[in-house]
Amino acid sequence: MLTDYHVHLRPDEAGSTAARYFTEANVDRYRDVADERGIEELGVAEHIHRFVQALDIWTHPWYRHWAADDVDEYADFVRSTGLKLGVEADYLPGREDRIASFLDGRPWDYVVGSLHFLRDDAVDVHGHPDWDAWDIWRTGDPEKIWARYFETLGEAARTGMFDILAHPDLVKVFAGRVPVPDGDLRRFYERAMDGIADSDAAIEVSTAGLRKPVGEIYPAAAFLEMCLEVGRPVALSSDAHTPEQLGYEYERALALLERLGVREIAVFEGRARRLEPLG
Ligand SMILES: [Zn+2]
Ligand SMILES: [Zn+2]
Repeated sequence: MLTDYHVHLRPDEAGSTAARYFTEANVDRYRDVADERGIEELGVAEHIHRFVQALDIWTHPWYRHWAADDVDEYADFVRSTGLKLGVEADYLPGREDRIASFLDGRPWDYVVGSLHFLRDDAVDVHGHPDWDAWDIWRTGDPEKIWARYFETLGEAARTGMFDILAHPDLVKVFAGRVPVPDGDLRRFYERAMDGIADSDAAIEVSTAGLRKPVGEIYPAAAFLEMCLEVGRPVALSSDAHTPEQLGYEYERALALLERLGVREIAVFEGRARRLEPLG
């Protein structure tokens, strides 16, 4: 079994409307590539900030900029295609009840939890002309940013709201362009591990990092090892934003998983998880 659960049906760019991309023809393009690449389980996890209902959670300028679609129309559409239905939800400390209200009562197969923001700052937006004001990397101390990132990731896991923890060490995305803490990074990973150990979340192994400045799989092997030690299962995804990115460089993810002795991956339906043999 191979999965790709963290899939976006459109690029993150202006003009990528629901009308243009949430179509049977577009889904067929994704399904054809998934079939070619032996990916049996395909699921969509649209960014929560694309939905007008997300403005009940947060009114950050990023959300106000993107919120345009109706989440129930999205859910109906994805269900009509036979693909698994997910959503990529930000963890926003203090807004748990609002996030839960958004998630509850909707027919998700799984909820992907992401940590894109630390307070009001996006960790993965760097040098963007419109959003550069949020560039915490310019002034922030990488030690502090990494510490806060992994502490918050542990909190996200502990909420129990997320079935999958997406790109768990996303904070490294701009490594090479921005300063990264020195030495053994496990001192940061430790800060997330109590929360992750107490949670029931699957840990996403994502090849998206290979397409980013860092040029590495999310998460680092040392982080994944620590999650495996506390009994967490693995979910496998590419974070594709185009059909061509489905299963992107999965051979490298499979080599990592083999090296760490992972033989099963998480499969979801109606927010219930089971494990299937990997490969
Ligand atoms: Zn993400
Ligand atoms: Zn994503």
